[in-house]
Amino acid sequence: MAPSAAQQFAEISTPEPPGPPRILMRQAVVLGGSMAGLMAARVLSDHAEQVLIIERDPTEGTGPRPGVPQGTQVHALLPAGQTQLDRWFPGFSEGAVEAGAPDYGRTDGRVYINNRLREVPDPPPQRPILITTRPFLESQVRRRVLDLPNVTMAFGRAENLVFTESAVRGVRYVPEGAEEVTEIAADLVVDAMGRSSRLNDWLEEHGWPRAPMQRMPIKLNYASALFERDESVSDAWVVITQETPGGGRVPRIGGVLSVEDNRWLMLVAGYDEDRPSRDAAEYAQRCRAYFPSMFGDIAEHGRMIGGVITYHQADSRRRDFDTLERLPAGLVAAGDAVASFNPVYGQGMTSATLHASCLSAWLQTGPDVTTTPAKPYFDRVRVIVDAAWQVSTFADLGLPHITSGQPRGYRVIRWAGDLLLRASMKDEPTCRRLNSVTAMEQHPAALAKPGVVLRALRLRLLGRV
Ligand SMILES: Cc1cc2nc3c(=O)[nH]c(=O)nc-3n(C[C@H](O)[C@H](O)[C@H](O)COP(=O)(O)OP(=O)(O)OC[C@H]3O[C@@H](n4cnc5c(N)ncnc54)[C@H](O)[C@@H]3O)c2cc1C
Repeated sequence: MAPSAAQQFAEISTPEPPGPPRILMRQAVVLGGSMAGLMAARVLSDHAEQVLIIERDPTEGTGPRPGVPQGTQVHALLPAGQTQLDRWFPGFSEGAVEAGAPDYGRTDGRVYINNRLREVPDPPPQRPILITTRPFLESQVRRRVLDLPNVTMAFGRAENLVFTESAVRGVRYVPEGAEEVTEIAADLVVDAMGRSSRLNDWLEEHGWPRAPMQRMPIKLNYASALFERDESVSDAWVVITQETPGGGRVPRIGGVLSVEDNRWLMLVAGYDEDRPSRDAAEYAQRCRAYFPSMFGDIAEHGRMIGGVITYHQADSRRRDFDTLERLPAGLVAAGDAVASFNPVYGQGMTSATLHASCLSAWLQTGPDVTTTPAKPYFDRVRVIVDAAWQVSTFADLGLPHITSGQPRGYRVIRWAGDLLLRASMKDEPTCRRLNSVTAMEQHPAALAKPGVVLRALRLRLLGRV
């Protein structure tokens, strides 16, 4: 019997060390040196003699960069992503702390849902909890990857792929500072160029079908600002707050993270016409009016570093390469180039780490990558994409401006989801179960077990939650 999606999800997201290195190809080329590209390069270092990452930005240091414009915004690493980082780079979490990631040793993160504080305490941490800015985290991954003896990074802009009749055989790119296009041979190419990847255009230009794309128009508006962390202003360590759609509420999300260099990174976000501006006074007013008190305290009394930075994400989107009947050999895609979700669920970087584990699982089977299309890889990736998509888009279907059709069974799932969320505020087992799914540690099927929903219903009927 074929394994269920939940079983496959558990296999891919295992914390166990990967299988032994096994060289299958001479040169792999990874397009894009951000989270997905770096993770793919780590996996490929076990299976290729040489791995070359081609990245558009000259990436050095720990600051934001143009190729990852979202890097200035709050980025939370889900526990499953941290597990994968520790799996692929043993000791990653401790190393990040040594390099400057804060290790406050605290477990009192605060979660507010619809202005109610969650009463279930966080469990004692088993390892440092990595709370950092996005550029810092990426710099830690980059350092570990570029320390590998067979991985190098070249700066330049990928322009197209080189195709034979049945396979991709290389990459065309313009090296930084050059004007001419250079061709480089590859046995396997990884597209990790993010959500605006042009891979579909390149496939079509060369007579291959495009991967079908699904979009959900979330119209999300982010605004983040850095502050000097100051206990006399607030004792906030980690705060997440969410106003869910329904009941006349305006859906909003906020977050305060205590990040490296003794700073707070604070986010306020809304949807559609609810758009925070870059104006510091408007930001402070919004923090005070619509978010728990520490948001207003920090905005009004904290020392802001730089200004308020806004970011708009129009949609969640996925490209289903697994459904293509024709796909050239020698080509895979990973990370946001495959699927990019509503960022409020924090699934993107973790998905990138799990796609790397999908690549490893496929390469461990010893395929001839130069002749075999990577369908088994994309089938595994689909399991991860479906799980993340299910969690984020089911919740987003409740947003007032989303008018696209609701799938069959949506009302029941929404009812059960609201019930679980409410119970999770007070009931520890429900909270742990729900968190394990939103943290991508378990497949969403873990919430569909009758006992889980019945427990929440019983507590609700007894008036305990
Ligand atoms: C506002 C916002 C907040 C987010 N918050 C979170 C969060 O809390 N937690 C989380 O896990 N995720 C979050 N995400 C998602 C996360 O940013 C992405 O999922 C993640 O960055 C995907 O990594 P990637 O490597 O696939 O793509 P990207 O990070 O987008 O990187 C693509 C890379 O490709 C390079 N590139 C592009 N084109 C070319 C080319 N032609 N040639 C060479 N190089 C090229 C770029 O320079 C870049 O380095 C958030 C996203 C947004 C928009």
